[in-house]
Amino acid sequence: KIRQVENSCLFCRIVAGEIPATVVHRTETTLAFRDIDPKAPTHVLVIPVAHHADVIALAADPSAAADVLATAAAVAEKEGLTDGFRVIFNTGAHGGQEVFHVHAHLVGGAPLGPMLA
Ligand code: 5GP
Ligand code: ZN
Repeated sequence: KIRQVENSCLFCRIVAGEIPATVVHRTETTLAFRDIDPKAPTHVLVIPVAHHADVIALAADPSAAADVLATAAAVAEKEGLTDGFRVIFNTGAHGGQEVFHVHAHLVGGAPLGPMLA
């Protein structure tokens, strides 16, 4: 099966193995890798292998959306985040989204305070 890769998309290039990443979990439909600039002891990005620009587009593909959440839960367990964690989708300009291949930030490993800055 040929996978659609958007050559201009950073995270599609990570999926394709063209850019290195520290992968922590992989399924047929998702990839989880460490954020290059971690904001917490655990900071993992969980993405669908298929390119969706943002969480609005992801929501239109319920099976991919469920797979991303299941992978986030699996990584939280693998990372030992038994005291809790956050799953965040930055979206659009106000949300501060910078990479337009949807990604869940899984952050934890320390108390995070009232909001993630
Ligand atoms: P956003 O602001 O779009 O929600 O988050 C993008 C995230 O991707 C940031 O936390 C940033 O540190 C991370 N990031 C940007 N470029 C790379 C990269 O090349 N590799 C990895 N692993 N993370 C990246
Ligand atoms: Zn992409």
